[in-house]
Amino acid sequence: MAILIKHYEGNKIYPIFHAALPLVFTEIPQIKKLKINRLSLLIGSLLPDIIDKPLFLLGLGNGRFLSHNLLFMTISFLIVYFSSKRNKNISFPFLAGLIFHLILDIPYVPLFYPFISYEFHYLEEPLLYWLRKLWTDPFVFITEITGLLIMLFILIKNKLYHKKEISDYLRGVNQTFTKSSKEIEIDA
Ligand SMILES: [Zn+2]
Repeated sequence: MAILIKHYEGNKIYPIFHAALPLVFTEIPQIKKLKINRLSLLIGSLLPDIIDKPLFLLGLGNGRFLSHNLLFMTISFLIVYFSSKRNKNISFPFLAGLIFHLILDIPYVPLFYPFISYEFHYLEEPLLYWLRKLWTDPFVFITEITGLLIMLFILIKNKLYHKKEISDYLRGVNQTFTKSSKEIEIDA
């Protein structure tokens, strides 16, 4: 097996933007109609960092490692697909979230790990580095502020002010149902 060594630094982190971008896609009317499970979408879109960033803090990989590759994507999708009894409303949004995450991290992603070996860039103080980046790197700062604005837009547009609405929104439940039951009450 040919081993290609690639040097890159993949230690930036954009948690808000990673969550906001896939969500805003579900606001497209054609996609919104599909009633997809947004919780699965969110889990998929954050999972690579939930796994790899703590590993990074423990000195394993560079923050984009075990769960930032196509093999992890395939295996975790199959696990979700079969454990949800082939529920496409759960497994496909999960896969879409993972794809969104990897695309956003490109080009610093070890996509073909472990089939190709990558040279990881290590940091001495990763946590401090991240915090400093947020305030000193305009790209990170602007990206996260954009993510926050997208989240606000989604919150206001869908009137997500209460637990019930947020839970319906995340599960992809059609919110017009609540409206029509209220209208029936008024009619009665
Ligand atoms: Zn990542």
